[in-house]
Amino acid sequence: MEKFDAIIIGAGAAGMFCAAMAGQAGSRVLLIDNGKKPGRKILMSGGGRCNFTNLYTEPAAYLSQNPHFCKSALARYTQWDFIGMVDKHGIAWHEKTLGQLFCDDSAQQIVEMLVAECEKGKVTTRLRSEVLGIERDEQGFTLQLNGDSVRTGKLVIASGGLSMPGLGATPFGYKVAEQFGLKVLPTRAGLVPFTLHKQLLEQLQVLSGVSVPSVITAENGVSFRESLLFTHRGLSGPAVLQLSSYWEPGEYVSVNLLPDTDLEAFLSEQRNDHPNQSLKNTLAMQLPKRLVECLQQLEQIPDVTLKQLNVRQQEELCDKLQNWQVQPNGTEGYRTAEVTLGGVDTNELSSRTMEAKKVPGLYFIGEVMDVTGWLGGYNFQWAWSSAWACAEALR
Ligand SMILES: Cc1cc2nc3c(=O)[nH]c(=O)nc-3n(C[C@H](O)[C@H](O)[C@H](O)COP(=O)(O)OP(=O)(O)OC[C@H]3O[C@@H](n4cnc5c(N)ncnc54)[C@H](O)[C@@H]3O)c2cc1C
Repeated sequence: MEKFDAIIIGAGAAGMFCAAMAGQAGSRVLLIDNGKKPGRKILMSGGGRCNFTNLYTEPAAYLSQNPHFCKSALARYTQWDFIGMVDKHGIAWHEKTLGQLFCDDSAQQIVEMLVAECEKGKVTTRLRSEVLGIERDEQGFTLQLNGDSVRTGKLVIASGGLSMPGLGATPFGYKVAEQFGLKVLPTRAGLVPFTLHKQLLEQLQVLSGVSVPSVITAENGVSFRESLLFTHRGLSGPAVLQLSSYWEPGEYVSVNLLPDTDLEAFLSEQRNDHPNQSLKNTLAMQLPKRLVECLQQLEQIPDVTLKQLNVRQQEELCDKLQNWQVQPNGTEGYRTAEVTLGGVDTNELSSRTMEAKKVPGLYFIGEVMDVTGWLGGYNFQWAWSSAWACAEALR
């Protein structure tokens, strides 16, 4: 039976990076994936340009039942370290917005970089491979694969979360955790569009494709200032994706469609200068015309001129546009979610090495555990940082 110093399951962001670093440190590493090519999510990421990290990475950008868990790994392998590697490979990049770094050309470059780093570490990669069973004894782990069995003293689970089953996502990592008696926290889709109740959806469907700057706030007070996109299924755009990670079914979200405008002052000023101007045309100076027309058809905007607009109507209008209460019907779920919230309980793991406290030699890295980042490169940075911490421990 073939033996390896470390076996890593999942050739995604975390698994490839960990394999490369451990291999380069001298370990004999086997990297296993169920897909026919490595790094499939990386290829799809950032609209094909991979938002590979964020300049402003900090622990506050991560959700976890233990918010302190991510601190050590993020501090030991930082965004600057990963940028250094990207630069070393001559990959050109740019900041798009809010510290989000993307490849100038293609996400394929990040996958090629990781493959090259794995080759440098003499990593053995087996694709289209299933792990049918894992047994543990005092010396380590025996993995039954389709075809043969392999042995290792150190087993790393990097099989990711449940989002995008079409890209190979499976609950494998959670099942391994449970097999070894580790707690797995309930999972749900994160960074995912909201769906709307039928009546509201029918009313807003004409707005499909309209995007507006917004501030969206969850019932727990968390809010994001980014754009909101109306879609044929509901609401999307960066602000909505971000907020979805903080939203619980049944809750309302509050939407400010004019976050940069003092609407009362704007209307008063316009009323002084153009009293006969229609309210609709006045609002169209601040909001997309299609949105204003739709809201007027839904009788959310009165069909009046500015001089006809009374104090009560103005107050109601400001409330509707700047404190719109929406109760999402749900989310689009794992089919379109970028990440999975929850997962292997971090209390079961060492924050320094990612090793299971109760099961020496068993490690979890990346998205499979209960650490989920905001939109904007934070999730890949967690993959790199947790993988690096683990690779250091595999030496
Ligand atoms: C469409 C999309 C776009 C995204 N864009 C960004 C972005 O731009 N920036 C960002 O930071 N984050 C982005 N994310 C999130 C990011 O891709 C993930 O957080 C990250 O890939 C997690 O890395 P991972 O290595 O833990 O898991 P993954 O990258 O998901 O890798 C897990 C690997 O394990 C394999 N696997 C699963 N089950 C098994 C099994 N039973 N046996 C063998 N192998 C198995 C899978 O095939 C996969 O290759 C995006 C996600 C999606 C879905």
